[in-house]
Amino acid sequence: MKLEEVKERIKKSITWCPGCGNFGILKAFERAASKLENVVVSSGIGCHGKISDYLILPSCHGIHGRVPPFLTGIKLANPDLTVVGFVGDGDALNEGIEHLIHAAKRNSDITIFLHNNGVFGLTTGQITATSPKGFKSKSTPKGNLEEPLNPTALMLVSGATFVARGYAGKVEHLSNIMYKAMKHKGFSFVEILQPCVSFNNTWKFYGRKVYEIEGDNKNDFEKALKLSYEDDKIPIGVFYKVEKESYEEILLNL
Ligand code: SF4
Repeated sequence: MKLEEVKERIKKSITWCPGCGNFGILKAFERAASKLENVVVSSGIGCHGKISDYLILPSCHGIHGRVPPFLTGIKLANPDLTVVGFVGDGDALNEGIEHLIHAAKRNSDITIFLHNNGVFGLTTGQITATSPKGFKSKSTPKGNLEEPLNPTALMLVSGATFVARGYAGKVEHLSNIMYKAMKHKGFSFVEILQPCVSFNNTWKFYGRKVYEIEGDNKNDFEKALKLSYEDDKIPIGVFYKVEKESYEEILLNL
C-alpha cells in the first residue's frame, strides 16, 4: 500500500469528535516531528491516547499514567532516539502524577505533551485534577469542590528543565514549541490547552484569554512561575529552559 493511501486510511479512522482540540495537536506534532529523525512515541489512556494510532511513527500505548517511566526505559535502551509521550490531564495528573513528578525531578531526556482539557472525555465527562472549581460534570452535579492543579507550575517546581504552554487553536505556534521541546536535552514538558467540544468546550474562553509571550524565557525561574500563575490573560510560549546533565547521561557514564 502506498504512503498516501495509508495516510488516507488513517484520516478516515479518526474517532475524535468533530471540532476536538486533539486535531490541532496532531497537526502541530506532525509538522514538528517531520523535521526530526528517530522519533518514537507513546501515549496514555484517554481520548488523547488515540494519537499513537494516527501517526506513522513507531508507537505504543502505555497503561494509565505510566507513559513517563515507559519513555525513560526506551531512552536508556537507545539514547539516540527522540522519545516523546502524549498524556492526558486525567491520565498523568490523577492516575500517574508521581511518575510525571519523578521524571521531571531526575531530568530524564524525554518529552511530555500534556493534552489538558480539564475533563475525563473518554469516560464521558467526569472531573480531573485540572477541572476548574465549580465545574459541573457527571461526577460533580453541584460543581467541583476543589481548586484545579496547575500543571505548568508543578513541573517547574519538580525540576523540569524545559517548561512551556501551547494552545491547540494556535497550530503553528504550538508546532514551534513542540519542536523546541523535542530538541531540548533533558526533561521537557508542554502543557497544551485543549478544548473538549463534548464535555468542556473552552474554544471561546481560550479565544478571549490566550496570548503569546514575546520570545522565550530562559533561566528566569521566578518569571516562569509568575507566568504559569497568570489567569487574567493566559500566556503561551516557552516559560523556562535551562541546560543541565540528563539522568541518562549521568547513569550511562557511571
Ligand atoms: Fe475530544 Fe472531548 Fe470528544 Fe474526547 S470527548 S474526542 S476530548 S471532544
